[in-house]
Amino acid sequence: MKIDGGCHCGAITYAAEVDPADVGICHCTDCQTLAGTAFRTTVYTPEANFTLLSGQPKTYVKTAESGNRRAQVFCPACGTPIYATSVGAGPKVFGLRVGAIRQRDDLPPRKQCWTRSAQTWLGTIGFLPKIERQ
Ligand SMILES: [Zn+2]
Ligand SMILES: [Zn+2]
Repeated sequence: MKIDGGCHCGAITYAAEVDPADVGICHCTDCQTLAGTAFRTTVYTPEANFTLLSGQPKTYVKTAESGNRRAQVFCPACGTPIYATSVGAGPKVFGLRVGAIRQRDDLPPRKQCWTRSAQTWLGTIGFLPKIERQ
């Protein structure tokens, strides 16, 4: 599936080819902090399927509890997370942040990981009062 996306300020734009079956949610505490919210939704694609169309993203390398290092790529102007990938040489897979993809409504998650640290209230949001706007 062809997708395109970009950051909130518009500096960074990209296009990519992704498999809609490869969308997942991560509930790890690093994702909660880096996304600034309850969990993160990601779709994976080989680096070759990703084309940066404009802008110069910045990279922050985080070290996980396991010692594993991962590059977090984001817009330096507005902070929108764009993707994460491995550090160092070798073929790379980009984990694109679904919230920055224009076709995000067509990319529902198919799996979730790190559920041990998932926010305990997630299952209750379907029952909360709903307001169409603000
Ligand atoms: Zn931006
Ligand atoms: Zn995570």
